[in-house]
Amino acid sequence: VETNPKHLIRARGSSFVGGYDGPAVSKALVADALKKRVQGVDGDTCEAGEEDTFFVADLGEVYRQHLRWKMHLRRIKPHYAVKCNPDPQVLKLLAELGTGFDCASKAEIEQVLQLGVDPSRIIYAQPCKTKSYIRYAAQEGVKQMTFDNADELYKIKQFLPDAELFLRILTDDSASLCRLSLKFGASLDTTGSLLKLAKELDLNVVGVAFHVGSGASDPNAFLGAVSDARAVFDQGIALGHDMRNLDVGGGFISETFEPMAEVLSKAIDENFPSHVRIIGEPGRYYVADAFTIACNVIARRTVDDAASATKSYMLYLNDGVYGNFSSIMFDHQHPVPQILKCGDKTAQDLVSQKTSGPATEYSIWGPTCDGIDCISESCKFPQTLDVGDWLFFEEMGAYTKCSATRFNGFTDKHEVIYVSSEPGAKALLGM
Ligand code: PLP
Repeated sequence: VETNPKHLIRARGSSFVGGYDGPAVSKALVADALKKRVQGVDGDTCEAGEEDTFFVADLGEVYRQHLRWKMHLRRIKPHYAVKCNPDPQVLKLLAELGTGFDCASKAEIEQVLQLGVDPSRIIYAQPCKTKSYIRYAAQEGVKQMTFDNADELYKIKQFLPDAELFLRILTDDSASLCRLSLKFGASLDTTGSLLKLAKELDLNVVGVAFHVGSGASDPNAFLGAVSDARAVFDQGIALGHDMRNLDVGGGFISETFEPMAEVLSKAIDENFPSHVRIIGEPGRYYVADAFTIACNVIARRTVDDAASATKSYMLYLNDGVYGNFSSIMFDHQHPVPQILKCGDKTAQDLVSQKTSGPATEYSIWGPTCDGIDCISESCKFPQTLDVGDWLFFEEMGAYTKCSATRFNGFTDKHEVIYVSSEPGAKALLGM
């Protein structure tokens, strides 16, 4: 019986066709792949780097999220935000599933086009673009792009005068994990003059875009944004622009997806007639839960507390905040460590021991020489972990490996083992 409320919510949104329980199959498949990969790695004899961090990605999870999106946000065509995790298999699957793509740079546009995706499925959703990248987009036929200031309009006029422009407006993103409106978005007292300038420059504004902030927690954040978008639509129409698109951005998270989708769908239907094309730019919604990471314990320090006569440990892993745990710094995440292998026991063997014995306290650190490289200040396990043991962390798919650095000479390229808990995803990818 599934007791984790998060998984209950997800299960509700997932399809249980013919009794097939995708999330349960996913858990088993991922656990098996993790176990197989770490078996046989002997720290005393292995090649340098054989014990490196690795991911297991369940592409079935991405597939299920897509079905869930289609079920609850029928009107909105998702344009996956590549920045969130440009994993080649994720992009390939989404390209096969027919989504569009939100690209932020030349490299992202290039990666998507190389999959054979038509340029009309791409939106260059970066309101402040590099000039040479606009020229590249023009050369490749990518016409949809966002803007939020006058200087950008002059650049676009110079390099892509027949661009299909979305005016990105400011939102109240105060209830989100990562606020984007500190940096982007035109305030409502500037939208009129921007639309007027676009008209004077003979540029085509075709719609409005917004983003309620990455990792938005309040479904109502969409209400104000949709109503502001409607007002700007009307300004554009009054000035003679052919306003026919609304881009509702990203910000969706698995935990609150259904209530969010309900609020958003209702607001869209109330404000935008059916001929208006609606797109979205979800990132973390698609991939956050699909990736699990496994890390090796490379060092340990014992901390004796004489006063309480207790022993705790500092564990050093081969990955940290300068690597795939960059999400701790940049994305305000708190990854939860779980034991994958302790001595000769694997996670499955340890299940029955979970409550036995007093818990030992650990702090978990990354491999660099910087003191801020801390993954967890305090966590407890009943087992005594040692050098060579393995930990794993779930929900490591969003804003993790894409922002890993090579600080201290550690690699930023790690193996990804792909599995699929959905036969549909397997078939599309020929797995
Ligand atoms: N669209 C734009 C313009 C963004 O800047 C971002 C994230 O920064 C996204 C979409 C994806 O947001 P999320 O991953 O929260 O869905």
